[in-house]
Amino acid sequence: MKLVTADKLDALHGRRLKPEDTFHFRCHSEIACFNRCCRNLKLNLYPYDVLRIKNRLDITSETFIDDYVDIVLRKGEFFPEVLLRMAEEEQKSCPFLSPDGCSIYTDRPDTCRTFPVEQGALYNRGTGQTTPVFLFRPPDFCRGPEENTLWTAAKWAKDQETESYQRMTRRWADIRRMLESDPWGRQGPEGSSAKMTFMAVFNIDRFRQFIFESSFLKRYKVKPALQKKIRRNDEALLLFGFEWIRLALWQRPTKNIRLKK
Ligand code: SF4
Ligand code: SF4
Repeated sequence: MKLVTADKLDALHGRRLKPEDTFHFRCHSEIACFNRCCRNLKLNLYPYDVLRIKNRLDITSETFIDDYVDIVLRKGEFFPEVLLRMAEEEQKSCPFLSPDGCSIYTDRPDTCRTFPVEQGALYNRGTGQTTPVFLFRPPDFCRGPEENTLWTAAKWAKDQETESYQRMTRRWADIRRMLESDPWGRQGPEGSSAKMTFMAVFNIDRFRQFIFESSFLKRYKVKPALQKKIRRNDEALLLFGFEWIRLALWQRPTKNIRLKK
């Protein structure tokens, strides 16, 4: 989910879809370009993507991060991107691509789910609010738009079951926007606060250990019912992580976590 401001909106590649706008698209295994879009990608993963895929593969978040992603901190940025690592072969295929298509289809990442529509968040500096923006941007080789099936952005999102992804990604996009201004000070983006922030959202199995096996619960007040929930539920833990980051980095009051006096 790309975060944009109004002045940069027109420069974005693709056709902006208003709620009533339609587009033709259908993807299926007999189409000439089948699987071509799953190669040589710069595929950003968001925290909820990692959660879904590591559970699908039945591995820990740490193993997933070690084996499947590249963590890239770009010059002048304060938080890294997490990119799915493509195979080291000529076609640079996605590691989840099989001859029959996506092998993790029901848990595929947000970006793959909405493709070829990209969802962005239009940020209003005045109000601090974001509103969704949809861009139709199939690559040139994609034959899907030549098919007859007609969609609106909302119908497409529903068909691709994006609801839980978009809900979680919107929350992450808000934090990601705040991470665009230096939150680390002298520690820098490789310091301990940045590492803890990364852990809370991308390495949530480790974050759970940190909560329950360090002095975390001596420092923060968390209701017993919520403690019970985040022990076993990854989605609840990720939402808890988002709240904790807002509190720890920007002292934003949260419903569920308080610093003990
Ligand atoms: S995760 Fe699935 S849909 Fe996404 S690029 Fe890989 S194979 Fe394609
Ligand atoms: S390129 Fe387009 S039509 Fe072809 S497989 Fe990918 S999404 Fe489907």
